[in-house]
Amino acid sequence: MAIITRKLSELFEEFLRTYQDKSGEYKYPERLAQLAATGSKSVIVDYEDIIQFNTDLGESLLSRPDDSMKEFRTAAFEVLSTEAASYAGQIRNSLNVRLRGITDLIPLRSVDTSHLDKMIAVAGMIVRSSELRPLLMDGAFVCSNGHLTRVMQDGVAIRRPLKCESCEETRNLELDEKRSVFIDSQVLRMQELPEELPPGQLPRFFDVDATGDIVNAARPGDRVVLSGVVRAEQDLTIGQARSRVFRSKIDSNYIQVSGKEPGQIPITKEEENLIKNIAKHQDAFKRLVKSMAPAILGLESVKEAILLLLAGGPQTVLPDGTRLRGDINIFLVGDPGVAKSEMLKFASQVAPRGMFASGKGSTAAGLSAAVIREKNTFMLEAGVVVLADQGVACIDEFDKMKDEDRSALHEQMEQQTVTIAKGGIYATLNARTAILAAANPILGKYDPYKNLTENITLPIPLLTRFDLIFIIRDTPTAAQDDRLATHILDVHRKKGYTDLPPVQFDLLKKYLAYSKKISPVLTMEAQTRLKEYYLDLRKSVKEGQIGATPRTLESLIRLASARARLMLRDQVTEEDALGAISLMNKMVEDVLTDTETKTKGDFGVLLGQPAGERGKLSTSMEIFRTLEGAEKKPVEMKIFKEELNKSGRFKNDDEIDKMIQKLIKEGIIWENRPGFYRRVQA
Ligand code: ADP
Ligand code: MG
Repeated sequence: MAIITRKLSELFEEFLRTYQDKSGEYKYPERLAQLAATGSKSVIVDYEDIIQFNTDLGESLLSRPDDSMKEFRTAAFEVLSTEAASYAGQIRNSLNVRLRGITDLIPLRSVDTSHLDKMIAVAGMIVRSSELRPLLMDGAFVCSNGHLTRVMQDGVAIRRPLKCESCEETRNLELDEKRSVFIDSQVLRMQELPEELPPGQLPRFFDVDATGDIVNAARPGDRVVLSGVVRAEQDLTIGQARSRVFRSKIDSNYIQVSGKEPGQIPITKEEENLIKNIAKHQDAFKRLVKSMAPAILGLESVKEAILLLLAGGPQTVLPDGTRLRGDINIFLVGDPGVAKSEMLKFASQVAPRGMFASGKGSTAAGLSAAVIREKNTFMLEAGVVVLADQGVACIDEFDKMKDEDRSALHEQMEQQTVTIAKGGIYATLNARTAILAAANPILGKYDPYKNLTENITLPIPLLTRFDLIFIIRDTPTAAQDDRLATHILDVHRKKGYTDLPPVQFDLLKKYLAYSKKISPVLTMEAQTRLKEYYLDLRKSVKEGQIGATPRTLESLIRLASARARLMLRDQVTEEDALGAISLMNKMVEDVLTDTETKTKGDFGVLLGQPAGERGKLSTSMEIFRTLEGAEKKPVEMKIFKEELNKSGRFKNDDEIDKMIQKLIKEGIIWENRPGFYRRVQA
C-alpha cells in the first residue's frame, strides 16, 4: 500500500480501528476507551503492531516523526471520539500517542547529525533529573478591552497573537496564566551504560525533554530504553548574536524503565552448559576462587570473600514489605602496594554491573547523590552507589570521601536507598548496591599493635555496616618475596598468566550473572551451624564488653547464601555455612580482637570501644568517684592524674591525657573552676 496515495491520518485511523492482535482482539479501540476510565491522556502503541500492519507507515514515524505523529494524534482523536466522545472533547489538545518497543536501538555513541529530527530509540542510564516545571501549551491572551485570544504553543519561545481576535488591538496583549493550559515538563540526562563504554572513553550523554504524563517516569539511576526525536538546540548566545553551534537533545516520546533483574548479560544455551559443568566439578568453589584476579598472587581469603560479594545473597522481602538486604559489603584495609586497588578494579570489571570510583569523587554527585543548580533549575544527580544499583560499587580511598557521602552511605549500606532533600527536591533513590571499599592506614603502614579504629579515620557506625573487613599487611619474608617477585616478573615476561585461570574472565562474568538468578534457602543443618557459631561468639565476650549483634548473624546468612548461589544450588548446605563461618572467623581473629586485652570477638573494636579501652574508662570513673567522696566535691585535676598513674592501668602520661580529654569531650566531667572538675550528674 503506497502511502502517498492515501492520507496518513486515514491510514493511522484504519490501523487503530482494524488492527487485531494474535488472539484476534481489537487492541486499540479498547485501549483508547480505557483512557477515559483511567483519566490518562496518552495511548501507548506497540511499534511492532504498526510494522505488521504496514511497514511504510511504521517507517514514516521514524523518518518524518513531526508530520506523522501529528497525523497519528488526529487519528487517535477520531477513534477516541467514537469510543468516548465526551472525554475526547475534554482532552482534545493534550491527547498523545506514545510509541513503545522500537526494536532497532541506536547506540547512544553513534547518534549524530544524521539523526536530527528523526525518531530513534536508545538505551542508557538516567543520571540526572530536574524538578518539574510547567510548560505553556495553550496561551490565553487578554487585550486591554478584556477580550480573549488563544494561541497554541510549540517551539522554544512563547508565541503571542499578532492582534486581538475581537477588537483588532495589536498591543497590550497580556498572558493570563489562569486561563492558559500548562503541562509538566522535565529535563533528564541520559548517559551511556557503563558496560557499553569503550575503555578509556568519556561516557556520552544527552539531555532529554520529557513532558506530560511521562515526567517522573524514570529516576536517576534507572536504566531505560526511550524513544524520541533528536533535536538541535541552539547553544549559548554570544552577546546579541546567536551562536552557530547547536547542542543535540532528545524530545522523548516514551520512556521504558528496563527490567531491574540483575545479570542481563545474554547467555547462550552452550554457555549455560559450560557454566553448569563448572559447578559440577568437585573443586568447583576452589576453581572459582582461583579464577579471581589471577594476576594477583595469594590473598585467597580476600578473593573468596569478593567472589561471595559478587554473587551476593538473595534479597528477602518480608510479608510486611520490609526488605532484608542481600548485598554483601566488604572493606579492605592495608599497607600500600598490596594490590587492594588492583582487586577492586578486577571486581568492578567482572561484576555483571560494576562501577569503580575513588572516595574523593570526581563528579558533583560524588558517591551518593546531589542537588545541583543549572540554568535556574534544580537537578537531582545520582552518584556512584545509585548508578550501580543492583550491582557492585568498588570504592577506593574510602577514607577520603566527602562528609555528605558519609552520611548518605550510612543509610545506603543498611537500607539500600539514598535519600536527598535539598533545593525543593526530596527524593529517595534505590541503591541496592554491594560496596567493596578499600583504604590505606593513616600512618602509611598498618600498626598491628593498635586497633582498627586507631589505624584508619572512618566514622564508627560505617564500620559496623561491613559484613567482612580484611587487614592486608605487607610483612616481608624472604620466601614470599621471592615468590611474588617471580610471579610479577613472569607475568610481565610472558605478557600473560603463568597458569591459566580455571575459568576465563568472560565466562566468569557470565557465571556470576547466571548465579545471581538463584535464591537458595537455608537447610536445617546450615541453620544449626550458623546458630551455634553465633551463640559461641556472644558467649566469648565478658560482662561489660560489646559482643556480636544480630547483624553478625545476618552477615553469616548472606555469606552462606552467596556461596550456595555460586555452587548453583538452591539450598544452603552445611558446607556453605562452614565456609561463611571460616571467613567470619578470620575477621574475628584479625580485626575483632582487642590488641590490648586480646579479647576475641570484641565487636567494641569497631565502635572504638574495645575491651581495653572500656576497662580503662571504668577504672578512671571509679577513681574519680572515690576522690569526690560522698559529698561530691570537685576533684583537683593534678590529684586525679596522680591517682590514674598509680592505678597501673595506663602505659604512660600520654594515655592518661588522652583519657582525660575523652572524659571532657564526651561531657562526662567538666571544669568547675580552674583546675577542679566535677562529674556530670545523670
Ligand atoms: P594498593 O592499592 O594496595 O596500594 P595496588 O593495587 O596499587 O596497591 O598494587 C600495586 C602494584 O603491585 C600493582 O601493580 C599490583 O599488581 C602489584 N602487586 C601487589 N601485590 C601483588 C600480588 N600479591 N600479586 C601480584 N601483584 C601484586
Ligand atoms: Mg591503592
